[in-house]
Amino acid sequence: MCGVIFTPHRKCKEMKNYEIETKCVQAGYTPANGEPRQIPIIQSTTFKYATSEDMGKLFDLEASGYFYSRLQNPTCDAVAAKICALEGGTAAMLLSSGQAANFFAVFNIANAGDHVVSSTSIYGGTYNLFAVTMKKMGIDFTFVDPDCTEEELEAAIRPNTKALFGETIANPALTVLDIEKFARVAHKNGIPLIIDNTFATPVNCRPFEFGADIVTHSTTKYMDGHGSAVGGCIVDSGKFDWMAHAEKFPGLCTPDDSYHGITYAEKFGKEGAFIYKATAQLMRDFGSTPAPQSAYLLNLGLESLHVRMERHCLNATKVAEFLEAHEKISWVNYPALKSNKYYPLTQKYMPNGTCGVVSFGIKGGRAAAEKFMKALKIAAIETHVADARSCCLHPASSTHRQMSEEELAAAGVPSDLVRLSCGIESYLDLIADIEQALKNV
Ligand SMILES: *Cc1c(COP(=O)(O)O)cnc(C)c1O
Repeated sequence: MCGVIFTPHRKCKEMKNYEIETKCVQAGYTPANGEPRQIPIIQSTTFKYATSEDMGKLFDLEASGYFYSRLQNPTCDAVAAKICALEGGTAAMLLSSGQAANFFAVFNIANAGDHVVSSTSIYGGTYNLFAVTMKKMGIDFTFVDPDCTEEELEAAIRPNTKALFGETIANPALTVLDIEKFARVAHKNGIPLIIDNTFATPVNCRPFEFGADIVTHSTTKYMDGHGSAVGGCIVDSGKFDWMAHAEKFPGLCTPDDSYHGITYAEKFGKEGAFIYKATAQLMRDFGSTPAPQSAYLLNLGLESLHVRMERHCLNATKVAEFLEAHEKISWVNYPALKSNKYYPLTQKYMPNGTCGVVSFGIKGGRAAAEKFMKALKIAAIETHVADARSCCLHPASSTHRQMSEEELAAAGVPSDLVRLSCGIESYLDLIADIEQALKNV
């Protein structure tokens, strides 16, 4: 791979005709004769060239290649190309975290004075990024109920709206987004739909097939899957025609003075403009770069993603069915349960499985939930989710402990809620553990 020039378009298409399982194992890196079988960790900040002119061409984006790992690194690019292939996109980039991925994805097209419409049902960190931090940067957000009608969604759009945003399966509320509904409204208004696909993963749902334009990931979750490396990814579908809406997206459709007057949408087309701009401009200026070592660990996780997701989903379904039938449990929320409000949407968007996270309420409220969690032997108490090892969290006594009962209810996190992230152990052991812990309540 060393010396191979990275062109995101070509790399992402190379495995087009294979099934997702084969892409998980093989996409992104194909060694030539005598090269290492496993992705080499190119632990180098910089790259050597024979002449200044050679390097100048890279700086001018006239040739593709590597010069400084803050912008691009071959190990990170190979893993980005794998995720690109999994999602069915045309270009992708890795970032240092899921937070950085969502920030870059939105900030790449929305500036001070612009507006974005987001589902209310999103990860708490993303909500804070949008509602507090990006608001301070002058970008306004309107939050809409993901179950709203198309008319209600349409009503939230303003002349300066630059994107719609939602999560395939929301963390932690486990609501399922009607991606096609959001895509229709976005495209009717000449703006892209950005989908955070962290919980479903491309193994269970590929949002581009339903009209999403940009997909983001916290690779920290199922993609890594072993609690080893924090990371993020952005993938472009290559379908959104920026030039057709040039007045809305001057950053992509007019010359970038900070980059030798390049017009990204002209030079790199629909397929490459978004990722080139996010790399050349935002990564250059913010430096939210993943370490090559982290990208290597992420790739090890990706190699078994399809196998693990199947087991996560099987375990969560068995656990959810067990809990639903238990007399000490007051409610269960798992989108793949037939009784779940979102079951019809899961059948449409994720017929093979959703995710491994189940939330439920224990009769007896906060005190009972605390006692239950203390008695669990397999699931460890952690803020993390989507790990090969089961873990659980009682938000009311940990992450949300400053909130009153009323505030908790309003935030959709009742005080009896336990979030259980089912790992890939045997579901027989998980259920036996839950059963013994419930006897203590
Ligand atoms: C965890 C998470 C994030 C944030 O990702 P980090 O890697 O922790 O920065 C974003 N979106 C979703 C859906 C998440 O679960």
